[in-house]
Amino acid sequence: MKNSRQLTLAAFSNPLTQVLMKSKRNSQLAIIRSSHIHAAGVFSTQPIKKGTLILEYDGPRMTKEAADVLYEDRADTYLFGVGDGTQVIDGHSMAMFINHSCDANCETEEYGDRVWIQAIRNIEPGEELTYDYCLYDGDDEAPCYCGAKDCRGTMYRVEPAKKTS
Ligand SMILES: [Zn+2]
Repeated sequence: MKNSRQLTLAAFSNPLTQVLMKSKRNSQLAIIRSSHIHAAGVFSTQPIKKGTLILEYDGPRMTKEAADVLYEDRADTYLFGVGDGTQVIDGHSMAMFINHSCDANCETEEYGDRVWIQAIRNIEPGEELTYDYCLYDGDDEAPCYCGAKDCRGTMYRVEPAKKTS
């Protein structure tokens, strides 16, 4: 298999506990505006409770091989690896604008074949929504400028995710 140039985002696969599936999108919970982390970011418009499914990471689904061909000459892609990583979502929703942070307030969760951005703590109105990209399988440098105290300096996954409570 040839190298893929795009960065594929890995979802944390935390064990599913007792989370209720919401069928409706909460797009009114967030807006896109300019961000100090990266050009554009997604910000909360109202208080968001821990556990809330804020946005769906939605878009066309395709195999990783198909995406490699489609985006061979493109530097910026918004591909999100799902399941065992053979399928990707080609991000076409607000969720694709969410920036990485090493000290994120959200994480991605897979429910069935859908991927959601879920709050991992209570979020104040106006906070930028972030999740840890945990990149893998990329050939490009992905330096991190999130500014968090424990910033690891890269958006790549460096070790298995630590348990934080
Ligand atoms: Zn960082």
